[in-house]
Amino acid sequence: MAPIRRAGEGTMKFVHDTGSLLASMPAYVPGENYTVKECIEEVKDKESKRSLEVYSEKLKVLEPSKESVKKVREVAKELGERLSDADVKVIALALDLGATVLSDDYGVLNVATYLGLNAKPVRTKGIKENVVWVNYCPFCKVEYPPDVEVCPRCGAEVVRRPRFKAGGKGKGRR
Ligand SMILES: [Zn+2]
Repeated sequence: MAPIRRAGEGTMKFVHDTGSLLASMPAYVPGENYTVKECIEEVKDKESKRSLEVYSEKLKVLEPSKESVKKVREVAKELGERLSDADVKVIALALDLGATVLSDDYGVLNVATYLGLNAKPVRTKGIKENVVWVNYCPFCKVEYPPDVEVCPRCGAEVVRRPRFKAGGKGKGRR
């Protein structure tokens, strides 16, 4: 008996971050392949354009919605992850498209998984559970927001440690 297919099923969508593009993953992954312009620029900075030519025909460059970008930034802040603009947009675009995120960046995988997205590592093993980071001064024992890198009290480098495992699969703490 043939399996019943619903509309939209059957086409896998993938959003690639810079690491995935540098590994030429769009050349190997079936279905629809997407990225954001920031990642294309990073690839051009880091390597010859040759790696881009391998898969340029299979790759669509899109801009994520402002709503998704805002949502990703909120979750990154909640989890204490420091993400680049390119990282944020990769996750936001996957959110818009219902696509799988391909990345080797732990922060990207952590935030994407927390938002309930499929997130697959390219070279590493990936993550099983979400982590929420605490950013704190090891001397003053004071917690700071993720963007604070030096303790304003004593000048020591602010470090981070996992606070607890979060729910994941879109289950927020609020
Ligand atoms: Zn301090």
